[in-house]
Amino acid sequence: MTSGLADARCYTSAFRSGLRPDPLQTVDEWADAHVQLPPHVAESGQWRTSRTPFLREIMQCLSPSHLCQKVVFIKCVQIGGTQSGVNWMGYVIDRAPGSMLVFEPTKDLAKKLSSEKVEPMLELTPALKGKVREARTRDSGNTIFSKKFLGGFINFIGCNSAVGMRSTSARYVMVDEVDGCPLDVNGEGHPVDLAEKRTATFSRRKVFLLSTPLEADTSRIEPEYEAGSRGRYHVPCPFCGHAQHLQWGQLVFSFEGEPDPDRAAYRCSRCSVLIPEHYKTGMLEQGHWVHEDPSNPVRSFHINALYQPYGWQLSWAELARQWILANEKAKTGDMRQLKTFINTILAETWEEKGEKAEEDALYQRREEYEAICPDGVLVLTASVDVQDNRLEAEIVGWGADEEAWSIEYRVFPGSPAQPLVWKDLTDWLHRKWMHACGLALRVECVVVDTGGHHTKEAYWFVRRYRGRCYAIKGSNQPGAPLVPPRPTKPKGATVHLYHVGTVAAKDTLFERMKLTEPGPGYMHFPVKAEYDATYFKMLTNEEKRNKYDRGVQIGHYYKKLGRNEPLDLWVYNLAAVALLNPHWEKLAEKMVPPPQIELPAPPDDEPPRQTWVPRTAPVPVPVAAGASVSQSPRRPGGWMSRR
Ligand SMILES: [Zn+2]
Repeated sequence: MTSGLADARCYTSAFRSGLRPDPLQTVDEWADAHVQLPPHVAESGQWRTSRTPFLREIMQCLSPSHLCQKVVFIKCVQIGGTQSGVNWMGYVIDRAPGSMLVFEPTKDLAKKLSSEKVEPMLELTPALKGKVREARTRDSGNTIFSKKFLGGFINFIGCNSAVGMRSTSARYVMVDEVDGCPLDVNGEGHPVDLAEKRTATFSRRKVFLLSTPLEADTSRIEPEYEAGSRGRYHVPCPFCGHAQHLQWGQLVFSFEGEPDPDRAAYRCSRCSVLIPEHYKTGMLEQGHWVHEDPSNPVRSFHINALYQPYGWQLSWAELARQWILANEKAKTGDMRQLKTFINTILAETWEEKGEKAEEDALYQRREEYEAICPDGVLVLTASVDVQDNRLEAEIVGWGADEEAWSIEYRVFPGSPAQPLVWKDLTDWLHRKWMHACGLALRVECVVVDTGGHHTKEAYWFVRRYRGRCYAIKGSNQPGAPLVPPRPTKPKGATVHLYHVGTVAAKDTLFERMKLTEPGPGYMHFPVKAEYDATYFKMLTNEEKRNKYDRGVQIGHYYKKLGRNEPLDLWVYNLAAVALLNPHWEKLAEKMVPPPQIELPAPPDDEPPRQTWVPRTAPVPVPVAAGASVSQSPRRPGGWMSRR
């Protein structure tokens, strides 16, 4: 038989079956009548919705007879969630042909779904035989990633594949493992948004979102659930008949203070009788969904592993054992198992306890300094952040044990490609800053972030600056030291470069921001216009969260919306004082008021001055400064020195 003839027959039979009057059979009814599961799954053979009756309403919502256009399902593992989507695919091929897109987080998962769940169903289910063109015919349109049939197709798409996300519109869309999908695909947005756009032109569309939830702050399935009808599956207590949804907190597996998972039972929320697990089958059969917002057109459902059918892998006893183990691990600081349990068993999102500084508290404690540099300041450092259209810089005064005072924050507008903005910066940095004791302090160390914009100009500035000036670049590598013992020399660069460990710096700074009493490490802020609420918002605009990278727990700082230059400038100033490595006691000894010298009466046009500070200045010089720091030689000249 030629393939052309085979195709023709295939189409003819498909066409004829398409002509059959379609009763208002729903996806669950169709699946119960037709779907055969392969031998490698938990319950092989004929699909029976009665085993997992909570899936019935979900599949009904996916049926053409149901008006609902969007179904959201937060689920635990091994509960049949994905299979309800696969049943839907079979139904679409057999009963409601149309275009369908199925998204998985990755191409591999898309392939796995197609080859391990969909293809076996196509092979084993008689009603689907011959409906999808056979793969062996050339140009059949049937590949692992695409199944074509009369009146439609199903494309399997990995969200990590740019090709797969090319726009194709479709009547039906399923996004599996929504929370495992990248938050943004090729700059076009979240896969759920992309997927929904694909169905926009269809009036009788269906979107099915399902997932095991992950982190609370990035979860997409949770807000989708919350925006929907918020269904929970209620089952009756076999003893008092009270209908309730199963919650983890009601599972009892500790008796007389001793954990005994094998005796795990469910405590009824009304009569408090402990329900043994073997009642579960009957309870599930008599269960029904209760929706908090029943009129919501988006139907959303939540189910956890307490509902797994009796006799499957995850018994209540097994769940209790996993919980006990996960909690033992958690006590040692290893939260991974607990997180997995919360996500995959309880189907709840996991909320990391983030480190966050309080911007309001910092703003409220601003002080009136008695001088530009108040008592306690022993040395000044400055940091410079290079942006596309401006420089931002801050001078910080440091005292014993790194008690610190913000002195001045400046923004120098102008393109760093132009010398002018650098000249303005230089003039500002070369100013003298009056100390409460009467001395004038100079900025002893300047660090410039050369990592972002205008690296070449930043290098140029560092090289030409008259004084101690370092090129730095932030490194967010976990475990990177605040400042490395030796700088590197980037290829083609004219200066040495220090990679500043930003995680270490932020750890230090956020701990210090929590200090409430002046002393070592305390950060002081002046009552000055630039230290307004916005400054503190930007200073605290990051939050530390723990992530797992190949099994190792690491801290990362996440920038929230908006800018954060003040925090970066504090990081760099912290690096500056580390590079300077001052000898605090010797600096303090030098901090004595200058001799008061009577001046001759000033000319009338000059403002009167009370004191005189010698030009050669008892400016404190950090004795131990730079002891461990190599400094690149500087040549005079260039546009920086023309001032
Ligand atoms: Zn009861």
